[in-house]
Amino acid sequence: MKKPDLEWLIVGAGFSGLGMAIALLREGRRNFVILEKAEALGGTWRDNTYPGCACDVPSHLYSYSFEQNPRWSRLFAPQQEIWDYMEHCADKYGVRPHFRFGQEVVRCEWDERHSFWRVVTKSGETFTARYLVFGTGPLSQPSYPEIKGMDRFRGPAFHSQRWDHKFDLEGKRVAAIGTGASAIQFVPQIQPKVKRLHLFQRTPPWIMPKPDRAVSPGVQRLFERVPAAQRALRNTLWTIMDLRGFGFSVAPGILRWTEQQCIAHIERQVPDKALQKRLIPDYRAGCKRILLADDYYPAVAQPNVELVTEPIVELREHSIVTRDGEREIDAVIFGTGFRVTDFLSPMAVLGRGGRDLNDTWRNGIEGYLGTMVSGYPNFFMLLGPNTGLGHNSMIFMIEAQVHWALQVVKGIESRGASSVDVRPREQASYNARVQQRLSQTVWASGCHSWYLDKNGKNTTVWPGITAEYWLRTRRPNFAHLELDPAPLPTVIESGETATL
Ligand code: NAP
Repeated sequence: MKKPDLEWLIVGAGFSGLGMAIALLREGRRNFVILEKAEALGGTWRDNTYPGCACDVPSHLYSYSFEQNPRWSRLFAPQQEIWDYMEHCADKYGVRPHFRFGQEVVRCEWDERHSFWRVVTKSGETFTARYLVFGTGPLSQPSYPEIKGMDRFRGPAFHSQRWDHKFDLEGKRVAAIGTGASAIQFVPQIQPKVKRLHLFQRTPPWIMPKPDRAVSPGVQRLFERVPAAQRALRNTLWTIMDLRGFGFSVAPGILRWTEQQCIAHIERQVPDKALQKRLIPDYRAGCKRILLADDYYPAVAQPNVELVTEPIVELREHSIVTRDGEREIDAVIFGTGFRVTDFLSPMAVLGRGGRDLNDTWRNGIEGYLGTMVSGYPNFFMLLGPNTGLGHNSMIFMIEAQVHWALQVVKGIESRGASSVDVRPREQASYNARVQQRLSQTVWASGCHSWYLDKNGKNTTVWPGITAEYWLRTRRPNFAHLELDPAPLPTVIESGETATL
């Protein structure tokens, strides 16, 4: 049996990959690399630089539990500050030497004979590692609408995640397509600059007031000197948000109260009754992500903004056409979200018997605790299938997954095994239960959302509250896992490998 070059290989340097790397280092495990296709760490918080980009989960919660940042400038920190925080974490925990930037993974192959993964990058380099961790994130591949004439349009056209900062919006006629989490943040920023903003809304989102505020220097000092005070705030935020999760997963009826708050928010901020009506959603709040904003509705109510609800028919050289007419435009901005259930492509991930995970998932993605997939030994996915949230911090989920993956590996090490896989029957019964529970939740209340795949199956959201996920990931249930008893190779002095 050959020994791999590395013990661990992590793909992606966002919050997931960085969190995994820090956990390994804190355990004294140094034999790993992080392959990242870009030239910097940061994932979502590196790529999304659109004006107004900020987190809509409070920063004192949306951060690693082991690295509290007492200096958050606002309750909901802006993108640059979150990215800086990640850079700080990489420095503080000594992750830098492990990064390999500009390395896009194209193929991962499980070598059954030697029980390791062989990972090939676009540049042609090959790495072998005992354990493979994907921290590639479900929201990294932009989704563009299929509009007739997309390639005919002559002006700048870009996605919110690929913002063209060189393009000066001042005095321009702009079409913004989509009214999701990203759009409601950039619309208020660009509205005062543009001459005319045609905002294409297919489905209005439910939007709550955003309780954002600056964190005063006094409070920052308090958090610096008394970390327990910041921890108390974090725990309170987590508890409140998890309680909200009950509404999503157990009692969607409670969300009627949220709807009333959102409608009152529209009525306060939009004077025009006809416009108010067009902004009020007709589906249960929470079925799509509930958004937070205080500046979106006032921006939409400005005279230079037109809310267009007619479907788009086509793009022409200098215009956008709907059923009710043609509008001359200088630029198009797509706030149209991400290809969520497509997050492996364009990678090939070949597990047992050379089976590509893209094929395994052809009819829908599924895993076990959103972290392992049967048939893909020693492979851990962070924020994999059914780990998404509509109500709490994704970093909490990442930390729970990282903990679980490490417990699994410690378990196989202590049992002297070389690989671990999920028993297919256990994965099937786990998913049957997840789907049965999801059928009772707000996400199954009838709206069309990116939580559902092309077959209408919810493969993205965790069906319960985060406290339950945390409990389930404290200790692996080894009865659900299959260990390969083949002993690990040991290395003899010459560098040769022998199996004891
Ligand atoms: P999104 O929430 O999926 O919104 C996409 C928008 O584009 C929706 O309004 C959608 O309408 C519209 N759309 C999609 N395809 C369209 C088409 N062919 N024609 C017309 N409209 C179309 O995407 P996002 O705003 O980029 O946000 C994605 C996710 O990123 C969020 O749900 C959230 O999890 C995360 N995010 C988080 C933050 C944060 O602060 N933490 C900020 C931004 C994003 P329909 O609703 O009709 O599909």
